[in-house]
Parts: sequence; structure tokens; C-alpha cells
Amino acid sequence: MSEFQPFPGAALDRYGLNRHAVFDLADLPDDIVGSIAGGTKGYRQLILIGHGGRALWEAVRKSGVGGADPIDDFTLRTIRQWMSECQPDSRYAILYPGPQPIALQRLGALAGWHHAAPFMVGIDGEWGTWYAYRAVMLADTHFAPSPAVDRSSPCVACQDKPCVAACPASAMAGGVFSLQKCVAWRKQDGSTCALTCLARVACPVGSDHRYCTEQLAHSYSISLQTIREHY
Ligand code: SF4
Ligand code: SF4
Repeated sequence: MSEFQPFPGAALDRYGLNRHAVFDLADLPDDIVGSIAGGTKGYRQLILIGHGGRALWEAVRKSGVGGADPIDDFTLRTIRQWMSECQPDSRYAILYPGPQPIALQRLGALAGWHHAAPFMVGIDGEWGTWYAYRAVMLADTHFAPSPAVDRSSPCVACQDKPCVAACPASAMAGGVFSLQKCVAWRKQDGSTCALTCLARVACPVGSDHRYCTEQLAHSYSISLQTIREHY
């Protein structure tokens, strides 16, 4: 019998938490493990959970969870319930969402999920840019570690790069993303990018998974708030 248990991901999929990667801590780069506040003693694995597409947003709306950050609240509630049902005897700690910085894109790259689009959002060949990291946890589980999914960046083969032309701030015009130009455009009164990213919407990759207007507005209103506070 294998020393590993299959990852019980189906119980998360049905809530839209449909991307999972399991890492043995021993196989992660030392700097990632060393940066975890509080250390990893007593844990064996790091579990990365994400969502792809619209299913998570639909599950959040259906659940009635409200407040300032319904996606995080719903995710935390779902993961705790999932662990109590699937792994009642396992010890675990949720690192993200939480106050400590976590190298989400590096973990995403190790999982094979992350490639940087020209506007610096992660992209992969299946989901396009319509996915995000929802949780990172330590656990003393024995799940089978996930092989990295091997999808090269779809941007490499994208000749026309419609995202570049769609950006009203010409933030990618120089071949390098200008955060300054993007932020300046988004901060304007009545900005066409207040609650969306026109470049992201213009990308054809994974367009079947594109967020609905309400989901886009939710996530971009949070980033606009951050911009207003910090820039
Ligand atoms: S439009 Fe092309 S270059 Fe732009 S993000 Fe999509 S795949 Fe990448
Ligand atoms: S949010 Fe708007 S300004 Fe910023 S990169 Fe996207 S399209 Fe360009």
C-alpha cells in the first residue's frame, strides 16, 4: 500500500476551490520554508489551494457570506469544514489568508500554474488569467505530492498580444509593464479601469472562465482601494 493518501480535492472542487497543489516541506526551496513565520515544526506538507473560473464566486454568493471580504471568509470556513470532515486527526495551520506575507506566485510557479502576463497577472494555458490563490496551509498530512502541471506560457505563442493594445494607459507600450501608468489611469475619476482591467478582459486565453462583471468589480474594487491608500 502507498504511504500517501490521495488528496481529497473533490470536496473542495464543489465549492469552486478547484486548484490544489501539495508539496512536501522537505522538497520546497529553503528560503520559502525559512520565511514562514512561526516555523514549520510539526508539519510535513504545504498545501496551496486556488480557484479557477466563476464557480467560487457563485458558491460565495449562494452561501450568503457577506462582509468586506466574503471570498476569504468563505474560503476559511470551507477549508476548516473540509479538514474536519476529511482529516479530523490532522494538525494544520492556515497561513494565507492571513497577516504574514506568503510567496504566492513562487508557489504557483512551483505548482506549474504561474506565468507572468504582460500586465503582470499570472496566466496559464487552461484558465488564462482567471484564477487566484485562495489559501496556503501547513499540515501534518500524508497526501500524495502533486506533480507540477507543465503548461508553458500562452503569451509566448501569442503573436498579436491584444492585451497590449487594449490597455488605455499604454502601460505595456514599452515592452515592460509600467505600474505607474496603470495606477495613474486607475486613480482617475471615472476611470475605465476602476473596476476591471481592459487588458485582462481582452486576452482570449481561458475566456470561457472569465469572471462575471460582479466578480471583477469585487476584486478590482479591493485593488483600487489599496492603490488609493498606498499610491
Ligand atoms: S493577450 Fe496574449 S500576450 Fe496578452 S496575456 Fe493573453 S496570451 Fe498573453
Ligand atoms: S488595469 Fe487598465 S491601465 Fe492597468 S494594465 Fe489593466 S488595462 Fe492597463
